[in-house]
Amino acid sequence: SIPLGYFGGIGAASKNGILFKGSNFLDSLAEIKEVVMDKTGTMTEGVFDVQEVHLQPEFEGSKILEFVNSLESKSTHPIATAIKNHVGEIDSEIILENVEEIAGHGLKAHVDGKELLVGNFKLMDKFDIPYSIDPSSIVHTLVAIAYGGKFAGYLTISDKIKADAQTTIDRLKSMGIGITMLSGDKNNVVKFVADELGIPNSFGDLLPEDKVEKVKEIKAQKGTVAFIGDGVNDAPVVAISDVGIAMGGLGSDATIETADVVIQDDRPSKIPMAISIGKKTKKIVW
Ligand code: ADP
Ligand code: MG
Repeated sequence: SIPLGYFGGIGAASKNGILFKGSNFLDSLAEIKEVVMDKTGTMTEGVFDVQEVHLQPEFEGSKILEFVNSLESKSTHPIATAIKNHVGEIDSEIILENVEEIAGHGLKAHVDGKELLVGNFKLMDKFDIPYSIDPSSIVHTLVAIAYGGKFAGYLTISDKIKADAQTTIDRLKSMGIGITMLSGDKNNVVKFVADELGIPNSFGDLLPEDKVEKVKEIKAQKGTVAFIGDGVNDAPVVAISDVGIAMGGLGSDATIETADVVIQDDRPSKIPMAISIGKKTKKIVW
């Protein structure tokens, strides 16, 4: 039978919108040594706005942004919504063929018989598209575009740090818990957010399988690890963590299903709250 203390802990958590899928996760949370987190949608709103559009001279006045919008309408990534909001209605005369999502990179398709690529600069590198800018010099998430084998330009987009992100980090630190941020976004954007918040360890440009490897390394070094994320790509890393936590509002179904704990209102400050409920419950139970 489950000791009474656990019901108190699970009840206190659920009143605060923190859903536990088992009482054992309260115990594990009480032992957490490191909280590993995703950036986009976890510590940031995950809602992007297009800031600037830079097209190569030969693409100015072309339909390239309409092509991009059309291709992004096939994606559920938050970047796709930003582009839709910026460009507007989809031009129904644009016909896309061979649409493909390239994990951790972006999208590919054919339009008017030519290859269209929309994603990060890693995608440009993967397809040997030459470009003359230095993406690492821009502290913004970038969406690069190539058409017919030529670099067509890029958009700068930005996201906002969540209102309670700072208190989350401060509280975890005061509990003596280590913090690492892992992201598929550009390294310098990840570093910028980590520096803003005072997160000591951060890694960007990661593919979903790289996130899994990093969490395995951290587990080996530090012990019990909690991972918190929201995206489809976070499901594998949520699964291998001692406590996998999902953002319930923005989160993908796969991640929510795999998670041990779900934060219904997407507020990261619920992480230190859940840990302290775990610690208090443990005191009562033992
Ligand atoms: P994350 O959610 O941590 O950014 P993802 O693996 O979903 O990780 O994406 C990694 C990167 O790939 C994104 O930061 C973005 O640069 C690029 N990307 C993915 N999907 C798209 C898309 N639909 N449009 C443009 N870029 C994309
Ligand atoms: Mg994500």
